Amino acid sequence: MSPLTRARALQELRQTFARAGFETAALDARLLLLSVLCIPATALVTDPDVPLTAGEAERLAAATRRRLAHEPVARIVGEREFWGLPFALSPETLVPRPDTETVVETALDLLPDRQAPLLIADFGTGSGCLLVSLLHELPRATGLGVDLSLGALRTARRNAEANGVGKRSLFALSHWADAIAGGFDLIVSNPPYIASSVIPTLDREVREHDPLLALDGGPDGLEPYRTLLGEAKRLLVPGGLLAVEIGYDQAEHLRSLADAYGLEILRVAHDLSDNPRCVAL
Ligand code: GLN
Repeated sequence: MSPLTRARALQELRQTFARAGFETAALDARLLLLSVLCIPATALVTDPDVPLTAGEAERLAAATRRRLAHEPVARIVGEREFWGLPFALSPETLVPRPDTETVVETALDLLPDRQAPLLIADFGTGSGCLLVSLLHELPRATGLGVDLSLGALRTARRNAEANGVGKRSLFALSHWADAIAGGFDLIVSNPPYIASSVIPTLDREVREHDPLLALDGGPDGLEPYRTLLGEAKRLLVPGGLLAVEIGYDQAEHLRSLADAYGLEILRVAHDLSDNPRCVAL
């Protein structure tokens, strides 16, 4: 039998995933193969005919079985790109979603001075993707990542260091801002915002692999917003900015909450699918 080359492994994997009905079959195949072989994407173009070793073929088969059992590719390879930066994942962190980049974009757009020595807080930091991306763009800013999960904080710290902002990052274990004093110029959060009763209906890849703590927003999915908006005035400096991710159908609820807590909505920003995805106050 002819040896299994990189090119043939990629082609076979793509077909396997397409037959299994995965919409992102080609991308899934590429990411899994690159991760198992520990090679950069360019190596598939420059050296497609290198044969896989027996060990590599075995690891690829194991990764393929996990994917066919509907484990997300990001979980299998243990990493996901966000804002052009690599983020390590752990079972305690949500897989960063492209839609969440709307929060980074909105915050950067509304900040009056990107060179200022800003103090940023990220509540429910998870992998740290919001905080680390912002610190990457704001060279003089310092940030605090807060989470209720110690495992998430460990992963976030690792991501801050790997992406060169470790010296400007602090991490703290706290239930929202219970253990946190004020003084922030910018607060960001992608809180859990799915109503508890909706969780069982979520896509299998989310329901079985993302941590419940990062998804469940209480009976109506709005509990974390009551906490964050209720605490905003205590935590922000005068004129400070709060930017939160929201569910596609929550913009009107956020308007009511902003009214109730005396906060001004500065912008409702939309994601790539044109759903309202970020509210800035
Ligand atoms: N957007 C996530 C999803 O697709 C939910 C994330 C959250 O609750 N913050 O399920």
